[in-house]
Amino acid sequence: MSWHSWFNVSGGAAALRSPITAIARNPNHLDLFVTGTDGRIYSTWWDAASGWASWFNVSGGMAALGSPITAVARNPNHLDLFVTGTDGRIYSTWWDASSGWANWFNVSGGMAALGSKITAVARNPDHLDLFVTGTDGRIYSTWWDASSGWANWFNVSGGMAALGSPIEAIARNPNHLDLFVTGTDGRIYSTWWDASGGWANWFNVSGGMAALKSPITAVARNPNHLDLFVTGTDGRIYSTWWDASGGWANWFNVSGGAAALGSEITAVARNPNHLDLFVTGTDGRIYSTWWDASGGWANWFNVSGGRAALKSPITPIARFPDHLDLFVTGTDGRIYSTWWHQSEQLRVHVKVLSEPTTVARATMMQSMRDVYASVGIDVVIASEETLNLPTLNDLDVGTCVVGSTTAEQNDLFGHRNSAGGNDICVYFVRSTVPPLNGCAAHPAGRPSAVVTSVASPWTMAHECGHVLGLPHVDDPNRLMMGGGTWNITNPPPDLIQSEINTMLESPLTV
Ligand SMILES: [Zn+2]
Repeated sequence: MSWHSWFNVSGGAAALRSPITAIARNPNHLDLFVTGTDGRIYSTWWDAASGWASWFNVSGGMAALGSPITAVARNPNHLDLFVTGTDGRIYSTWWDASSGWANWFNVSGGMAALGSKITAVARNPDHLDLFVTGTDGRIYSTWWDASSGWANWFNVSGGMAALGSPIEAIARNPNHLDLFVTGTDGRIYSTWWDASGGWANWFNVSGGMAALKSPITAVARNPNHLDLFVTGTDGRIYSTWWDASGGWANWFNVSGGAAALGSEITAVARNPNHLDLFVTGTDGRIYSTWWDASGGWANWFNVSGGRAALKSPITPIARFPDHLDLFVTGTDGRIYSTWWHQSEQLRVHVKVLSEPTTVARATMMQSMRDVYASVGIDVVIASEETLNLPTLNDLDVGTCVVGSTTAEQNDLFGHRNSAGGNDICVYFVRSTVPPLNGCAAHPAGRPSAVVTSVASPWTMAHECGHVLGLPHVDDPNRLMMGGGTWNITNPPPDLIQSEINTMLESPLTV
């Protein structure tokens, strides 16, 4: 259904530009974390069964306004959080399904500048690696292992960065880490750790540069490929990639995109052949583009009219491959979300005994396509054919109730030709006996409906709604109103969420 409109999440608010952390422990659950306007660390969750919960303070935690909270789910029943506290010490807490939230504790004596991001990676469910730029500008790491607990912090291969520089870390496989950072000279650096060889030296990635403290975003679409994204020193949005077969490519500008210096480009790979990017643009509008292996890079577009303060990070998460959720602190300091869901498809075969006389068949088909598209269903006219069946042109439909069909309906609906078992056949007939605009009663296994020559613009959409399982309603604003679709008011007619759910859950929509 493309993008939903933005909505405020449970009344939440944060300082402008505050990053919202989102994590999906499973596809039907989201946990959010943010430092609120009072400096307390807040969380809420969304569950497919119950919707959004109220925000609550996590174990009394606090941080400087705008501080990022890092969350990792080592397994679906456990969360680990990391943050730089108001005293500059690095804190962690955890949530476990069995015991709830623990108290915050300082991680191995670590410290960082206020607001510094702590980067965490779980290479496997019993191991965590942390990365941060310390108070002396050196890049530090520590790890936690289920067998040995927390190790001491150590400097990673002599690396340095401006205070507060975020370190990007990614595990392409459980025995390998890649790090990325903008160094003290504005050059973009990388190093890696491998279980077999330990830490490598830092190297500049393809000559890349960015403003000090610029975040580098890395995505591994597959274990042998990395894509990087950054806002360059000229404010243009750049990408490069590394492939196990060809090494590092040159940086290139992504579809002409630009953002304020230091803006974070966020990226998600919904599947190994697709990337979605998000950024707040130079005009404060929230932009997205995508890359697909089949079509390359698309143009940037504004997401549902969304806006945010310059440099506001957009948090995307794909709970499953055909769904995206976004989170951002808006220009009014409220926490907003929107979602995108891939359209489903409904295949319709059109079979014409008589052309309609009041509303053109093309108009009915377009009306159906429009109203279904508005709820995320692409109507595909899979075939059109003329049927010469004069004895069925004034079709006996009996009482026209679901589950009850006449001999003439059974005869007509046997003419499915190329239609698949989950395709709907719509038969355009001269009339029904008794006279109706249409009728959706059909035999089991032959999803079908008839539309007559006196049908309204909405009859075809309405009858197919019945085939997808929708009953009549009283409200004349709605597609499924039972008083005849000529009497629909305020077109286009509405479908409500429970009807949309029924349509999407039908085996006929895929
Ligand atoms: Zn009806």
